[in-house]
Amino acid sequence: MITVPRTLPVRLQPVPGEALDSWLEAVACRLDTPLGDVMAEFGLPVRPNTRGACLLDIPWEWTILLRSAEVDAIAKASGLTPGRITGMTLAHYDQRAVVIDSVKRQVARGQLWGRGRASRFCPDCLAVTGGRWQLSWRLSWSFACTIHHRLLADRCPGCHRVQRERPHSRHAIPKPGRCACRQPGTNRNDPVSRCHHELAAAKTLQLPADHRAFKTQALLLDMFESGIASFGVFAGDPMPSAVALADIKAVAGRILAPAVRSGLQAVAPGDLAAAHLGTLTPPDGTARPAEARPGYMAPPDALTTAIAVTTAVDILDQPTITQAGEALRWVTDATRDAAGHSTPTNIESWGRNISTRLRAVYLAALDPSLRVTDQIRYRTAALVPCFPSTSASSDARRSRKIPSALWPEWSLLLCPVKSAYSRIMRPALAGSLLLFGSRIDLPDAAKLLGSATDDSNISRILQILRAGAHWPGILHALTRLAEHLDAHPVPIDYARRRGIDYDHLLPAAHWKQICRRTGAPLGREHRHQVVRNLLFQRISGMPEHLAPAAYVIKDTPRRTYLSEFTASLTPALAAALDDAARAFLHDQGIRGEPVAWHPPTSLMDGLDLPGPDPAAVDIELMHELVMAAQSNISTIAEQLGTSVEVLRHLLQRHPPPPPPLTSHQFRARGQAIAAAQAVLSREELTRLYCDERRSLGEIAEGFGLNRITLTRLANEYAIPLRRYRTARTVIDRTWFYEQYVHHHRSLADLAQEKAMSPANMRRWAKILGVPLRSRGESRPESAID
Ligand SMILES: [Zn+2]
Ligand SMILES: [Zn+2]
Repeated sequence: MITVPRTLPVRLQPVPGEALDSWLEAVACRLDTPLGDVMAEFGLPVRPNTRGACLLDIPWEWTILLRSAEVDAIAKASGLTPGRITGMTLAHYDQRAVVIDSVKRQVARGQLWGRGRASRFCPDCLAVTGGRWQLSWRLSWSFACTIHHRLLADRCPGCHRVQRERPHSRHAIPKPGRCACRQPGTNRNDPVSRCHHELAAAKTLQLPADHRAFKTQALLLDMFESGIASFGVFAGDPMPSAVALADIKAVAGRILAPAVRSGLQAVAPGDLAAAHLGTLTPPDGTARPAEARPGYMAPPDALTTAIAVTTAVDILDQPTITQAGEALRWVTDATRDAAGHSTPTNIESWGRNISTRLRAVYLAALDPSLRVTDQIRYRTAALVPCFPSTSASSDARRSRKIPSALWPEWSLLLCPVKSAYSRIMRPALAGSLLLFGSRIDLPDAAKLLGSATDDSNISRILQILRAGAHWPGILHALTRLAEHLDAHPVPIDYARRRGIDYDHLLPAAHWKQICRRTGAPLGREHRHQVVRNLLFQRISGMPEHLAPAAYVIKDTPRRTYLSEFTASLTPALAAALDDAARAFLHDQGIRGEPVAWHPPTSLMDGLDLPGPDPAAVDIELMHELVMAAQSNISTIAEQLGTSVEVLRHLLQRHPPPPPPLTSHQFRARGQAIAAAQAVLSREELTRLYCDERRSLGEIAEGFGLNRITLTRLANEYAIPLRRYRTARTVIDRTWFYEQYVHHHRSLADLAQEKAMSPANMRRWAKILGVPLRSRGESRPESAID
């Protein structure tokens, strides 16, 4: 029902940020006419004071939302643009600072501290502008004037009533800057009997220009204009301003709770806190009645809003979730449940529509009081902690990426050197990886990873680690690891590796072959067992005690032997074992997977961790020390400034070159033949031995070779050796005794006479039972019985 407006004779521009009602009143004042006349000129009808008026779509308060026809009518009459007119109504802040019911044209009071009616004001602004009101003052989020550095006023200094609770009387000529409230007991439409007190005379708290309250107010007003919250904890993931306001409201609400309020003195700006304390305990001693649900509705006054909102924004304006959590901790500490606990689910009582960011801040605040398994489940060390959300299927998916025993490359850094055995630590740490962001219970986690550990071990190990000084670093490392595993593919399916039958891994024949090829000592049965166990651990990702019965390692002597064995690996043997592992996987139908893998250890960069870093060890120096073999492994570890565990691990991954062999070992291991092959080819030997008919001794001497080696080489080349039919010379004992003892002839002399080698003559002396003279002995008497 809009009457066709004509153009008004007076053109009065709204002041920047002015509310529609203020401008209409200013126009009426300028025209010196009752407000109702101006509204009629603009086509804004009177709401009849009868039943059924609510059906007419004539709002009680025009400053909330205008229909487009109404906007057009005002635009035509005033010459203002439609956008400018809409910008003077609370619709400008819809979904950003208020929620408007567009059918009823009302502010939703249950949301975002919506304020249905009334407005605060800055006395100085009213004085400067001649009584023009800012639209933003109508928001319950407005508590301070950032120009005049004072809190807004709530009430008329004369009648102490809240301003603009009702629209201005249509019958009265407005007096901007003066209280328009009726005198008590007068008629509603009586244009004269108004309070008319100078509002600019209202007293409010003045604060220094750089006060946090003004920064907070400016931040809110900017956010309302942009509609986006990107401050503090929202910086990484900007949110609609309504989301941030719901969070600010939730935190401010907790701050205003009676149990928490007392802590405000310590954290809120001192001047605000002191003033606030004054309002709570007025001089007359009559305490203000406590609100039933503090913070649920907008605080009634600017001072309470200022202290609650400034403190809440201070918490959320921290650069990280962790720091925000620390800032919030005094609130969570003060809001424990009946049992004295602050639990993650208590956040549900903070209000509806709480964002994931505030939930993260809340979890970060609870961190020190959470159980260690909850710290992991709620990812309190993550950049953004969150509530567990994984399902049974995602737990199973993650378990395929995790070996039963945590990768040694990780556990070496994560495990304190002197607290528990790595064979217990590693499966427990692997199990704890399944807890991140998950509700899975500990026994199930242990089972999913092949039961290499159990619930009590996981929880015991985690408690031991938490008690240590390095727990924050360890928790961060595990968190980064869990996040990495979730975000990246892993080239090994560890669930499949756990399911392989390892009974026939590296059979004895294969091991012998490897030893022959690499020159590694074959050793006894337990050496074979240890090698199989080592290979089993490497392929399966499982700990030593889960190996098949034939080579399981459960006792200390075997464990000791296992770790000693790792120090005796050579590059050739390690490579051969890797080949054997690859062949084994191939036989199991597993192709395209590496034998072993580990997530990048660079994820642990910058963290304070308990274990020594394997990367810090000088590998060349380690090889030198191990090859010198003058000290045992723990001394070498000490010299290298690392742990025995790290040293053993590095020796497996980077075995030192083998030590030079004694000539006997060299021959024994068949490598002499290889060396001989290198200097004497088959053709050359055939030419010398068969064609030129030189003797083996002659040829051996010519090439600097051992005669036995040369004989073997000839066999290797399949060159038939000449057999001499030599008459066997027999030495007579009487002759030998006569010549050797009585005539004192040397063995060489006698050998020459009988055409045999001195060694052969020496053998005859033994056979005949004649004691030999020791070297340099001139007389044989001592040798004669
Ligand atoms: Zn002001
Ligand atoms: Zn008044």
